[in-house]
Amino acid sequence: MPGKTSPAQDLIDIHCHQFSHASHSQILSLDAHELADAQVYTLAQTSSRPEDSISGSCYFSLGIHPWFIERQNIDSALQALIALKDHPKLLAIGECGLDKCIDTPMSMQIEVFSRQIQLSEDFGKPLIIHCVRAFAELLHLKKSQAPSQAWIMHGFTGRPGLAAQLIQHGCYISFGKALLLPGSPASQTLQAIPINRLFLETDAADLSIDTIYAAAAKIRGIDPAHLRRQIHTNFSNVFLND
Ligand SMILES: [Zn+2]
Repeated sequence: MPGKTSPAQDLIDIHCHQFSHASHSQILSLDAHELADAQVYTLAQTSSRPEDSISGSCYFSLGIHPWFIERQNIDSALQALIALKDHPKLLAIGECGLDKCIDTPMSMQIEVFSRQIQLSEDFGKPLIIHCVRAFAELLHLKKSQAPSQAWIMHGFTGRPGLAAQLIQHGCYISFGKALLLPGSPASQTLQAIPINRLFLETDAADLSIDTIYAAAAKIRGIDPAHLRRQIHTNFSNVFLND
């Protein structure tokens, strides 16, 4: 029942690295190497509000970010993720993906990413993806592995043409602080994509999700309440299998 929640509670930040005490819902992204700090995931477990509503919940996603591949033993890291498979607040695998701007060999990145694609399929949970200049490799994996779970391209900064290609292959697009740069490619892309493929996030930026929602509603030229409802629907469809 949408009327049950206040507008502020309806905001959903689908990707952040810092737990926020504000009343919006969030998916806190945790890397496997952070799990040694048990506090981090008990936080996600204990900070939820009432179970009968999405509003104000803190969920989390778990993965191995390409930046952190070489600082951990991958088999142990994957075991740590598998151990949390049935955690009620675990909503997605990630962030994980491919990044051409780091020194870790692409073959190693593809191997670790592929194993997380497999986890996403085994767990029945979507993937939150980090992709920097490796979209050809990413689309190749999408086609060859034909996953049934949703893939969400987080922190998207690309042009409408690239987004169209990703959407054609079934991906979702999440925007963050790039929407605050006037005339950015991300803003042009936000105007062009189907609204049922859209998510918003703060990622590691020091700003509130309210700011991102306000920018998105303005760029898209829609009523902020409509935007909130739509993203709520997208969230339910993709992450809660409603
Ligand atoms: Zn991130």
